[in-house]
Amino acid sequence: MTRGFDIVVLGGGVAGCVLASRLSEDPGRTVCLVEAGPDYGPDHRAWPQGLRDAHALPRDDIWERGAEVHRIRARVLGGSSCVNGCWHTWGSAHDHQEWESAGGPAWSAAAMAPYRQKAVEQMRLRAVPDREFSDWARAALAGARELGYRDVDMGAPGGPGCGTPLINALDGLRWNAAFAYLEQARGRANLTILGGATADRLSMRDGRITGAEVVVDGRRETLRADTYLVACGAFGSPALLLRSGIGPADQLRAVGIRPEVDLPGVGTNLTDQPGVFVPLTPTDHLNAALSAKERAGELYVSRMLIRAAGPHCPEGSWDLHILPSAGDPLFGSLPEGQYEAGISAFLMKPASRGTVRLRSADPDTPLDIDPAFLSDPEGRDLATLRHGLEIVERLAATTALKALASGLPSRDLTDDELRARLGTYWHPVGTCAMGHPDDPSAVVDGAGRVRGVDNLRVADASVLPTVPAANTQLSVLALAELLADTVKEAR
Ligand SMILES: Cc1cc2nc3c(=O)[nH]c(=O)nc-3n(C[C@H](O)[C@H](O)[C@H](O)COP(=O)(O)OP(=O)(O)OC[C@H]3O[C@@H](n4cnc5c(N)ncnc54)[C@H](O)[C@@H]3O)c2cc1C
Repeated sequence: MTRGFDIVVLGGGVAGCVLASRLSEDPGRTVCLVEAGPDYGPDHRAWPQGLRDAHALPRDDIWERGAEVHRIRARVLGGSSCVNGCWHTWGSAHDHQEWESAGGPAWSAAAMAPYRQKAVEQMRLRAVPDREFSDWARAALAGARELGYRDVDMGAPGGPGCGTPLINALDGLRWNAAFAYLEQARGRANLTILGGATADRLSMRDGRITGAEVVVDGRRETLRADTYLVACGAFGSPALLLRSGIGPADQLRAVGIRPEVDLPGVGTNLTDQPGVFVPLTPTDHLNAALSAKERAGELYVSRMLIRAAGPHCPEGSWDLHILPSAGDPLFGSLPEGQYEAGISAFLMKPASRGTVRLRSADPDTPLDIDPAFLSDPEGRDLATLRHGLEIVERLAATTALKALASGLPSRDLTDDELRARLGTYWHPVGTCAMGHPDDPSAVVDGAGRVRGVDNLRVADASVLPTVPAANTQLSVLALAELLADTVKEAR
């Protein structure tokens, strides 16, 4: 079966929802949005409770159940915005300089500010309401100020400091990108949404994509379009390109795929933000306060953070998030009335780079994902993380926090112990990175156009050449808004 559209968007996650919504605003343009996971429909009350509930991170609608933590990614319309922490923070001026040098002036802080604002409004982002602060979060803010951190706006550039993120939780409802961007768009006759449809590969002739091969309920379909936009996320987008023969030629041959375009950068440069959680022992008073909060339906594990600078951080910027949390453990559970409290240190600008590779040409075979945490030869990441753990220790020792929990120290951990305790902030980017035409590792240009292919673009987290010193969702929303405009302008 074959169907035709002006634009096919492959991947219905955060970026895919933005692209489908913005590009279907013009009734003269037909758009098809293809998502491997289910589309639970327009009525948010009909969605599974776990995806709706912003108090916890659900684990049902994901690609690989039981896989290592760093591989978790959503498989549902709305993408990882349906399973994530609902936090929105913005990166530093330094991040924008990196992006601008790779993608041009459209990626400067000033040029992206209006797109950031569009995303803030569409996602209904708001400040954390006072009632959602637990005693722990409140004490952590006081502790951060005790250490000398000034209050900063986490939704804007600036310097180190403490504050609260913007959130897209509306009275406990996780307001995901599918609700935010498709609520109105679903009614448009020119927008088709295909849920449960996995993009297998793109067919190519004479440097142009001629069709997207999609599997829907076990049936194969070809979707034809003038323009193909890939938005399968930092793991899924390089995988789709690789299955289509676009990537490092030797690697493709090794898994039996005929190379169409030799692009060595596809699947390299994987950048994610690792971190270590330092557990503390909550006092009875804190457990009782958290329990009361839970009974009131207002217990959120974390509601504040510190932006801090490590030894290698550029002047005026930050490269650490220090994140106090208290509540139910992310993994596992504790007896009723008992909670986990602690403080994490996350590396926001790691120097280490990992890879995403195919194990086979079959889209259902799990990918070979290696985040290569703390692997940079100079050991900068390890040094920065250790610096973060020192801040964690000082924060835990502040008057405000030591009244609520005891424990530590963590600085005595050996390097191996530290590595064994690494977790992730779940912010992978960079696997189809944008860059200069003379950069051999660049996969796309500043408009998301894939090198060597006429009518193919990538437009999601994977195009960012470096990770922002922030949680990534707001940046991805903004870049998808920006890239939607570049597609409109091209036609
Ligand atoms: C557990 C978790 C917690 C997080 N917490 C936060 C947070 O609190 N704040 C924050 O800012 N960021 C957070 N993030 C990161 C944020 O969700 C991502 O930055 C964002 O979702 C990236 O958007 P994307 O469009 O690139 O990818 P995604 O949103 O992951 O979307 C990719 C979509 O493509 C689909 N897809 C993949 N392959 C195919 C295929 N072959 N065919 C069809 N469809 C396909 C997937 O099913 C998915 O729906 C979190 C992420 C995770 C996983």
